Amino acid sequence: MADLREVQLLVIGGGPGGYPAALHAADHGLQTLLVDEDPKLGGVCLNRGCIPSKALLHAAKLIREAHDAAEIGLTFGEPKIDLAKLRDFVQQKVVGKLTGGIGMLCKGRGVETLRGHATFEDANTVSVDGTRIRFKNCILATGSLPAMPKLFAIGDDRVMDSTGALLLPDVPKKLLVIGGGYIGLEIGSVYAALGTKVTVVEFLDGLLPLADRDLVAPLEKKLRKEFEAIYLNTKVAKLEATKGGIVATLEGKDVPDTATFDRVLVSVGRRPNTTNLGLEKAGLKLDEKGFIPVDKQRRTAVPHIQAIGDVAGEPGLAHKATAEARVAVEVLLGEPAEWGPRAIPAVIFTDPEIAWAGLSEKDAEAQNVTVEVLKFPWAASGRAVSIARTEGLTKLLVEPETKRVLGVGIVGVNAGEMIAEGVLAIEMGAVARDVLESIHPHPTLSETVMESAELAYGNATHTVAKKKTSAPKRNADDAG
Ligand code: FAD
Repeated sequence: MADLREVQLLVIGGGPGGYPAALHAADHGLQTLLVDEDPKLGGVCLNRGCIPSKALLHAAKLIREAHDAAEIGLTFGEPKIDLAKLRDFVQQKVVGKLTGGIGMLCKGRGVETLRGHATFEDANTVSVDGTRIRFKNCILATGSLPAMPKLFAIGDDRVMDSTGALLLPDVPKKLLVIGGGYIGLEIGSVYAALGTKVTVVEFLDGLLPLADRDLVAPLEKKLRKEFEAIYLNTKVAKLEATKGGIVATLEGKDVPDTATFDRVLVSVGRRPNTTNLGLEKAGLKLDEKGFIPVDKQRRTAVPHIQAIGDVAGEPGLAHKATAEARVAVEVLLGEPAEWGPRAIPAVIFTDPEIAWAGLSEKDAEAQNVTVEVLKFPWAASGRAVSIARTEGLTKLLVEPETKRVLGVGIVGVNAGEMIAEGVLAIEMGAVARDVLESIHPHPTLSETVMESAELAYGNATHTVAKKKTSAPKRNADDAG
């Protein structure tokens, strides 16, 4: 008979959902065991997702900026790329350092960790590679895996998913990216900067289908110059491995029937990871999309088992998983916590970056919500002009009557850093006047958020088109 251990809280999965949950729980005195089958904690985000992709995008940005500097009179030579050193930077100096840091955090904060694959035996017991663990409560945070449709799984390692592509096996001459979502475009941008001719094939009629078109336009314009081709409304009907490369059969208008590539990145989405979890033994079922259904307290159908992060529903984003972790633990501690954010920011870390939070114009249209859209073009921003990046746009979506901020969208360099202000405005129920009266430092790109807010009442300081101006309405409870 295998050993039987007893724990108060078992957390399965050490990604950005699981490890923060374990840390918060231990901070509040819960005896917590964190189990992960990966030798390195941090989940997909740290090991195979957010972090290595951003480290590589940083390298790509340096290459692009050195190239673009010629426009302002600074010419550098062609970059010399030491792939081994770049890989070492990403895997050791970035990923290794951060995952090691999580191990130390767990140790320092009293979270016990165990490596191995967890499978439910019943609603209160899991087996981790032979060790049986009885738990009072469990938080499931097993994340997601890259989707690899059968059509593309041809058993050739030149066909990669995002995990394979981030390992940077080489710099292929030609790369086919299947899927024009954020993962495909981010990784495609990295390879393009390293010198690869990148072709993106997207089945739908636009890149980044969830984003508003005015935010996508400046990015698409730039990518069309940097990439070899972007084929929209196009299907990859077949992949065939040949000695000379992977031959893709394409179906679409004005696209070649076939094209040959040295490597292919399949980035067509992710699926919840419930592989060999034995959920049925715990009494859990999946919804039609394969997620574990949860309520506002992140409780599953078995109330002492909660689920958070990618396995518990969309959007599949690290910060959503981490925010859910806090809710799940507060519920465990008996707090009246519930999941109900007004805004979960989305960021595409391409160049330019795209970021949005709260209601998008697409959402407003789909939900039949009337909004006033306040757009401030970056051509009117002193900071954007001084860094020669005027292609950006900042927009606020406000309620027409009250001017309450419902959504913020930004495209431009550093949009990902700027969007947090939008999230705060939406969460705090700010009106445009609150935003414009919050003094923004000059000269910064953040001023574009303030100037968008000015447009709610007439002209922004730096817009040319003259608009009738009305006095900003004060809140009744605002004496200031
Ligand atoms: P995961 O991070 O998937 O972690 C789950 C963990 O559970 C894993 O470590 C796994 O080993 C473990 N596990 C699974 N099953 C078991 C089991 N039975 N027993 C033991 N352990 C198990 N998100 C962002 O917010 N920003 C980004 O910029 C971003 N970029 C991305 C780029 C790429 C290329 C990819 C692939 C993803 C990116 N994401 C990004 C998404 C982000 O990585 C995920 O949303 C996030 O990792 C989800 O966290 P999680 O805790 O739910 O699960």
